[in-house]
Amino acid sequence: MRDLIDHPDRDHLVAGATALTSPARGATLIPNPAHGHRTRWAAPLRDGATVADALSLICGIGILGAVHTLGEQRFRPCGAPTCKGVFIDTTRPGRRRYCMPGLCGNRINVANHRARQAAPRGGRSAR
Ligand SMILES: [Zn+2]
Repeated sequence: MRDLIDHPDRDHLVAGATALTSPARGATLIPNPAHGHRTRWAAPLRDGATVADALSLICGIGILGAVHTLGEQRFRPCGAPTCKGVFIDTTRPGRRRYCMPGLCGNRINVANHRARQAAPRGGRSAR
């Protein structure tokens, strides 16, 4: 996952995410009891699959969906200078900057606020 997000060129993302879906027995449509006669997508795991296989399949399908619907430009490093995190921006406007806005974004806001408080105020002369 990390390698894919760190190197988000489209071919790399599609190849890597497709490999992550290898624990699946393929894709199919199954009845969706919640919606009458309609169906929904399903990707059953092969026999003997582990929890790690299930997570791999979920991540692979998620990455393929993000590449298909949003594009590879939505795979980004965190904008906080001290953070090594990466993320897939699934927001509607696509302008997310931080892996964890409540943590990394807040740290930036606090640092900027402290820098403003510490800086001498413009327009006043100190005598
Ligand atoms: Zn971050």
